[in-house]
Parts: sequence; C-alpha cells; structure tokens
Amino acid sequence: MKTKLKLAIQKSGRLTEKSLQLLSECGISISNGSRSLIASAQSFPLEVLFLRDDDIPEYVENGVADIGILGQNVVLEKEKSVQEIRQLGFAKCRLSLAVRRENNYTNISDLNGKKIATTYPKILAQYLAENGVNAEIETISGSVEIAPSIGLADAVCDIVSTGSTLLMNGLKEVEKVISSEAVLIANDSLSQEKQELLNRLLFRIDAVKTAKNNKYILLNAPNDKLEILSNLLPGMDSPTIMPLAKEGWSSLHSVVPENQFWEIIDELKANGAQGILVTPIEKMIV
Ligand code: ATP
Ligand code: ZN
Repeated sequence: MKTKLKLAIQKSGRLTEKSLQLLSECGISISNGSRSLIASAQSFPLEVLFLRDDDIPEYVENGVADIGILGQNVVLEKEKSVQEIRQLGFAKCRLSLAVRRENNYTNISDLNGKKIATTYPKILAQYLAENGVNAEIETISGSVEIAPSIGLADAVCDIVSTGSTLLMNGLKEVEKVISSEAVLIANDSLSQEKQELLNRLLFRIDAVKTAKNNKYILLNAPNDKLEILSNLLPGMDSPTIMPLAKEGWSSLHSVVPENQFWEIIDELKANGAQGILVTPIEKMIV
C-alpha cells in the first residue's frame, strides 16, 4: 500500500473548520460526510484523524498520527516530545490571569498565597515559578471563568481572545501568561517517505500563508515618477512596468506585504501614484 501521511485535527471545536479550510486552500479535499474518526484525502496521500485537541500531542508523539494541528497552549501544556514546525496564523488567543473586577490588583505578587483555577496547570506553574509567586493551583476541566464567583478560587488562568467572557463573569485580565495560535506539529522521527510527503504539504502551506500576507497592487503613474515609486515597492523582485495608451504614463504592478500596506499606499499617493488597485493573492510561490 502507498504510504500516507496521517494528520490529526480537532474533531469538533474552534479549530476544526479552519484546519479543513487550510487543507482545502492547499488543494486537499476530504470526503467525510459522516464525520468518522478517519477520512482519506482525495488528491494527496493524506489521512485525516479527527480527535480531541487535548489528545493530539500524545498521538503525534507516539506515531498514531504523523502530524497535527492544534493550539500552542495545548502543545505547551501537554509537554510531549513533538516538533512545532509551522505557526498557522489562526485561533489567535492568549492565556491570561484574571481576578474579580473589584479586586484592586497592583502586580503579580498580589497572587501570593491565593488560589488560581485553570485547565493549564503546567503552564501556570512554570509562569508562577518564573515570577517568584507561591500560589495554589486548582486544576479544573471546564468553565474556569465561574470559579471566583462560586468561591472556588481567587483568580483564574484561562484563554482570552476579546475578553468578553471575562467581563460577563465579573473578571478583569491582569497578566498575560502566553500568546497562542494554531500550529502544525510533527512526530520527532518521521520516516524519509513521510518526511517527503510532509515537505510537499509544507510547500503548499507556505504558498497559502505567503499569499495571505501579501497583496497584489497595480497603479498608474507618469513616467518621471516611476523610479521613486519603484523604490517604494519591495515587490517579489522588481516591479512590472507597462506603458499605458496615455502618452508618458505607465502602469506598475507589484506585491506589497500586508503589514506595511497602508504605509506604502500613503507614500505611493504622496509620490504621484493614481488609480491604485489592490487585490488578494491566492497562492504565492517565492
Ligand atoms: P475539545 O473538545 O477538542 O477538547 P476544547 O474545548 O478544548 O475542545 P476549543 O474551545 O474548541 O477547545 O478551542 C480549541 C483551541 O482554540 C484552544 O486550545 C485555543 O488554542 C483556541 N481558542 C480557544 N478559545 C479561543 C478564542 N476565544 N479565540 C481564539 N482562539 C481560541
Ligand atoms: Zn480541548
């Protein structure tokens, strides 16, 4: 039988949709009408295992799965021997400490002697040790945010994205413990055959990620402005310049990184660019 790469993703939760979407953007579709435990990909030698995210590090460590997609928070907490090979840019959140809103918290030493509820005892213990805080950790499996109001703990260490859950439960965020996003992890000792499949998959993932981080830009400018405008555009290489029907004018095409986008647009306008068009890029191979 032909070797297949086994990828573990979350069975049902925040990561499921985005993980399948990433595969789809890589040209890999999964036939999994009934959401069985295992599904095969159509156009790539890949098998997808649907698991609880908490179980993924262990299964990747022991080789039940070769690779997995899950939050860094879970990877750190499980302390399994796996490699983090790519950050995937979705499910961005942070693990934070929060106390009751009326608490006049000043700094981390206020937590000395307090009880903190969390589902991340290992990450929290390490953070407290690094900060010289001696607190009691109460490990609970869910609904951490209600612990202070039912008198189970003085503080919580929980996942935060917008902070609205904390607010609803009368809590305020006081310290960020870690930042997290979805990552791709891999088994430490993949066979050469599987490593080659993984490299093919990574090539596609990188093309999708690079494309998302860049925009394609087209603009018109008088020829005497072309040099200065070209210098403003980092591009993949050098920009493409084409003459317009209008005498003395050209069209200039390039690629702009998302994170410098507005800055560059302002500079372009200030230096004579007109009719600026910006479009998303679907795939980008560098
Ligand atoms: P499971 O039943 O598989 O154990 P779960 O309840 O542990 O699921 P989810 O709530 O689906 O997990 O979250 C999965 C991951 O998504 C978390 O481990 C975290 O990395 C990330 N995450 C959690 N909450 C948020 C949020 N509010 N915004 C963005 N990302 C989040
Ligand atoms: Zn979980």
